[in-house]
Amino acid sequence: MEEIILAVDLGGTNVRIATVNPQGKMLGKLSFPTEVSRGRERVVEDILSRIQGFLHGFPSGEFEVIGGGFGIPGAIALDRGIISQSPNFPGWEDFDIRSRLQKGLRMPIFIENDANAFSLGEGWLGAARGVKDFCCLTLGTGVGGGIVLNGDIWHGTEGKAGEIGHMVIAVDGPPCHCGSRGCLEVFASGSAIRRMAIEAIEGGERTELVERCGDEIKDITAKTVSESARGGDRLSRRVFQQMGMYLGVGLVNLVNLLNVQLMIIGGQVSEAWDLFIDSVREELEKRTVGSLGKGVRVEKARCGDDAGILGAAYLVKREFEKHKRRR
Ligand SMILES: [Zn+2]
Repeated sequence: MEEIILAVDLGGTNVRIATVNPQGKMLGKLSFPTEVSRGRERVVEDILSRIQGFLHGFPSGEFEVIGGGFGIPGAIALDRGIISQSPNFPGWEDFDIRSRLQKGLRMPIFIENDANAFSLGEGWLGAARGVKDFCCLTLGTGVGGGIVLNGDIWHGTEGKAGEIGHMVIAVDGPPCHCGSRGCLEVFASGSAIRRMAIEAIEGGERTELVERCGDEIKDITAKTVSESARGGDRLSRRVFQQMGMYLGVGLVNLVNLLNVQLMIIGGQVSEAWDLFIDSVREELEKRTVGSLGKGVRVEKARCGDDAGILGAAYLVKREFEKHKRRR
């Protein structure tokens, strides 16, 4: 009988389900829209029935599902298995999701914040394989983060640690949705790139970016800015250099604080790697204290879209290995 793990990446837009073996090989995958607006109960019911249908493809005579790992956006109170804060899923606060899934699926369930799951995935099979201390940043619409120390996620007192995106980089910077100003997220996310480009255009700078978007400034996205930058557009190139500078300052703070030597950058914006990485490295060289910056590597995430799902699977694998050792 082959042991397999159910792994789920519960995103604001899509739910991704997979079966993964303990070596990290993905055996099957399924993805469907989350439809958060239908409310918590409907979403959970939908997820449970999709999983049950999906697992039919792995007959119980041949496969044994040893547990389910879930990556979930928001803060998780791990001791109680509840979602304690959930900006992307309104109404999911204080929801005992672990018990609900355990009951519905009749298997041990392990949950983790999605950015943390991403970090565990990269640690298990990606760019941080074999490294015990590292930080992960995901640059998407926002900036997510995970801090791994001594091989495990640093959760903090309430399980909310790792808000790297809300590290303050500029005290008087643009407002952030978290209520603060000048967070890393308002400089290094996809929305930040869009904002910086639009501000420069409104300031009267010339750029081919406007033409690329059919004269509709509102249609500018991080992707169009990166395309323009690759085409040599000065404004677009500068936006990415700026973004890289701020990102570099964020990494400097992490290095100075934690003395970690590996930084993993993932998420959609990391596709523009060559446009910002030199600026990131320049700040690290300039600003780290003493010799702290020596040997620090900044690397692109390697598991792509699968990092979160692999990290969710790793939660289960890790627990089972602990049990095996105890036996
Ligand atoms: Zn913030």
